[in-house]
Amino acid sequence: MILILKPNIEQDSREYKDLMAHLSSLENIQLSVHKEVGTQQTLTEVYLVGNTSQLSTEDMGSLPGVERVVRISEAYRVLGRHKDDNRPTYFNYNGLHFGQDTLHIFAGLCAVDNRKHVELTMKALQAHGQACTRMGAYKPRTNPYSFQGHGKECLPYVFELAGKYGIKVIAMEITHEAHIEEINEALELTGNPTGIMLQIGTRNTQNFELLKKVGRQQKFPVLLKRGFGITLEESLNAAEYLASEGNRKVIFGLRGMKTNMGDPHRNFVDFAHVPVIKRLTRMPVCIDPSHSVGTRDADPDGILDVMHVIAQGVVAGANMILVDFHPVPSKALVDGPQALTLDELPYFLEDVHIARRAYEDRVSLIRRMT
Ligand code: PEP
Ligand code: MN
Repeated sequence: MILILKPNIEQDSREYKDLMAHLSSLENIQLSVHKEVGTQQTLTEVYLVGNTSQLSTEDMGSLPGVERVVRISEAYRVLGRHKDDNRPTYFNYNGLHFGQDTLHIFAGLCAVDNRKHVELTMKALQAHGQACTRMGAYKPRTNPYSFQGHGKECLPYVFELAGKYGIKVIAMEITHEAHIEEINEALELTGNPTGIMLQIGTRNTQNFELLKKVGRQQKFPVLLKRGFGITLEESLNAAEYLASEGNRKVIFGLRGMKTNMGDPHRNFVDFAHVPVIKRLTRMPVCIDPSHSVGTRDADPDGILDVMHVIAQGVVAGANMILVDFHPVPSKALVDGPQALTLDELPYFLEDVHIARRAYEDRVSLIRRMT
């Protein structure tokens, strides 16, 4: 059961103290308090775990300081959508609003290779009105002899250039908790010119200790990729690990599943799950067409499979697109064969726009009909 308290309730107020004293006296009930500090107000939620079936929603709703009560019946206590649950399906970060109703594009380098390519990419993004990008510094690679990413060495110039080209949020995978500190140090060194969305890759979806560490910090939002070989439920529980530790600024990323059924694509595209995740949870949903498809193959009209699956995900209501671009894909150190080129950026944006309009039309249609 979740008690949503009156906005801006003070912890040293009589109301709050009376409420907590009462809740602490309940038998077989454990409490945990979550505070969400927003720009306008601070929201406090009290999670009651244990034998909550003995508690009546009406009684709990009439306790001092309580505004609303949500009874949790399903899994994903923090991130799930529960009955009569109208907690927000969005969060704000660095001036941007990320929700189940918005669409953000994170086009950029799978792996940072050099300053020139970062600059060319960010310059093109700015020229086309984009404020987000992806930049891989820490690369988890199958082969130990493959390029592992430039790591913390590249962070200062990546952040500095982001500031120069108006990039507000960079999605960046981390593979170890130490990378959070390295990112913090580089941000400080460069005067905090940009924001970071920490990305947990598909190989680390169930790295629970990493999830706990990332969940304990609330500074950076998190993009959690679905595990490529586990059930959706297991991946959603991984997201809940982040939230249960305190960070609920979580976006769930679909990136295809590893099975030969998807051949000749790199992974079996799973974007039909966009609406499923929106129904089960309050997380915005990201699609990664690059790592799903993994090639630049096209249909007889010349439309790339990557573009087709983007359209499929966006028409189904995706809220974020994480996509590989490279100024010279043949020179990319990681995943060049699936990258779109900067020349294709205007075409890509227009095509995404068409799909988004189709989604919005579909939403209007169902609202008219019901
Ligand atoms: C990536 O986005 O660069 C990446 C490695 O993705 P995934 O974890 O989905 O393979
Ligand atoms: Mn990649």
